[in-house]
Amino acid sequence: MDFIHSTLPKTPLNHLQADLRSLPVYRCDALVLGSGVAGLSTALAAADQGSHVMVLSKGRLDDTNTRHAQGGIASAVGPTDSPELHSADSLAVGCGLSETAVVDAFTSDGPAAVEWLQELGMRLDCEPDGSLSLGKEGGHRVARILHSGGTATGLEIQRALGAATQAHPRIDFCQYTSGIELLKDSEGRVCGLLALMGGSSSAPKPVLFEADAIVAATGGGGQLFRETTNPELATGDGLAMALRAGADLQDLEFVQFHPTILYLAGAARFLISEVTRGAGAHLVDREGNRFMPDEHPDAELAPRDVVSRAIFRRMIESGDTHVYLDFSEVNDPASRFPALARMAREFGIRLAHEPVPVRPAVHYMIGGIRSNLEGRTNLDGFWAVGECASTGFHGANRMGSNSLLEGVVHGRMVGQDLANSLGTSPRRFLTPSLLGNTSVSGAQLSLTDMTYSLKSLMWRQVGVERNAAGLADALHRLETWEGYLDRLCPFTREGVEVLNMVQVSRMVVLAALAREESRGAHFRTDFPSPSADWRCHSSVRVDPGGIVVGTTSVALPAEGVSKGS
Ligand SMILES: Cc1cc2nc3c(=O)[nH]c(=O)nc-3n(C[C@H](O)[C@H](O)[C@H](O)COP(=O)(O)OP(=O)(O)OC[C@H]3O[C@@H](n4cnc5c(N)ncnc54)[C@H](O)[C@@H]3O)c2cc1C
Repeated sequence: MDFIHSTLPKTPLNHLQADLRSLPVYRCDALVLGSGVAGLSTALAAADQGSHVMVLSKGRLDDTNTRHAQGGIASAVGPTDSPELHSADSLAVGCGLSETAVVDAFTSDGPAAVEWLQELGMRLDCEPDGSLSLGKEGGHRVARILHSGGTATGLEIQRALGAATQAHPRIDFCQYTSGIELLKDSEGRVCGLLALMGGSSSAPKPVLFEADAIVAATGGGGQLFRETTNPELATGDGLAMALRAGADLQDLEFVQFHPTILYLAGAARFLISEVTRGAGAHLVDREGNRFMPDEHPDAELAPRDVVSRAIFRRMIESGDTHVYLDFSEVNDPASRFPALARMAREFGIRLAHEPVPVRPAVHYMIGGIRSNLEGRTNLDGFWAVGECASTGFHGANRMGSNSLLEGVVHGRMVGQDLANSLGTSPRRFLTPSLLGNTSVSGAQLSLTDMTYSLKSLMWRQVGVERNAAGLADALHRLETWEGYLDRLCPFTREGVEVLNMVQVSRMVVLAALAREESRGAHFRTDFPSPSADWRCHSSVRVDPGGIVVGTTSVALPAEGVSKGS
């Protein structure tokens, strides 16, 4: 099923106006790009085994997707639960593309991972009798969502892991340092990184890192799309760097939308949890008509992708930019959802009396850098973990609260593997000889305009619903943009981010074009049903001859089999 797409991604290295050999070099055993749940869990596990780890973050240490996580972390710790049941639920939500071995491994390790977090000082909400308080979300058949401070779980994980890593004698941090390009030695092993280092006030300077092992823990790419719950850092940098270095990217077409994001001009894109719909808030159109009961037997509590598509279609039919969430049948909504009530009030909406405008937004990138249970990729010396990785855990649709779990569990496995694999003599990377050989054109490029155009294109043509014509047009535009970005893009953090976003978007489009079926988070109006031929992963990689788009078959669960049922 492989096909070759000929234009290769451009490297930002062409625009570096300096000789790599003149740059300062920082050395460590393991270099972890990213300070979210996945990066910090990896760093702690490797450092506990004696490795010297350096953690890079684009901004402040705690500026991550992780800190925004609200719902909680899933783990089979309840009295009526078991890892087998958690595994079966995750497999069912994954729509036939989850890898059984990975799902089993991650769900089995969940309870131990939660204990580890508690030992590190993470505070979890408890019931009056002292037992852990457990919530329930879509797809989970039993209550298994652990949470902190109600909806501040991500903040608490980030705090606990941040404190433990900062206190560790073998972990160092480089904040405000953006990884730009992976570098290899003469045998093709990844062992170096070009980065831009500098605080928010000073102009970032190019530096090099040299390490025995390099780990991408760079999070997702929500910023590729106009509407997203993700913070600004989520520009898919890790995926772009990995692609250019020759790593396999997997299942990129699976982009998960959250159905209900507050949609008010000028307001932050505030995520309105499905707990509100569980409490009786209804989705209605402009005329006040409730539409979900006609779409799915579970109405507003249908799976996230079904609700997102139903909202999207209603928006198109009514020519409106949003629908509404009506709280009139919820008892005292302002007390039950104080943060939302506060935010809505600022914009003149009283929750009990006026419906809240909502629409779907990109929430999570299911696909990413293909990595195995140890986090290894197809590139020697390069590991991937967390949202930027694709292990097959989430299949074609992520079950809520499984991503924080993945970050902790997989992070610990990857850290252990790094420590075991580190050699005694450090390797040196081969300094490329041709540098700074392309000068940036004097023509003006507005990065703001470029970013806005990209996000609009992805939202319009690669969003909740796709089709061949829209995807082919998007592909053509992205190639054109990358062509002139190669000449005009400045060698700055912002310039490289835009190039990264365009390149990752192009790969998402190629994967979405290739998958001629609808499954989980990927919906094609021209192929609206799942196809048995497509019960496989999509893959995208760069070869000397072009970009190879193909498929990989993996150990999939048998259709309809659910171990725990
Ligand atoms: C609003 C919201 C609510 C959510 N709620 C939940 C929930 O309740 N439960 C759940 O399980 N999941 C939830 N998620 C998803 C979950 O938060 C993320 O999937 C998870 O936190 C990702 O962790 P990570 O460590 O992989 O990446 P992140 O936490 O995103 O961290 C990425 C790190 O990589 C760094 N980085 C990026 N690019 C570079 C670069 N070029 N160079 C150096 N560093 C770089 C960043 O600076 C950052 O430190 C939510 C997400 C959002 C946005």
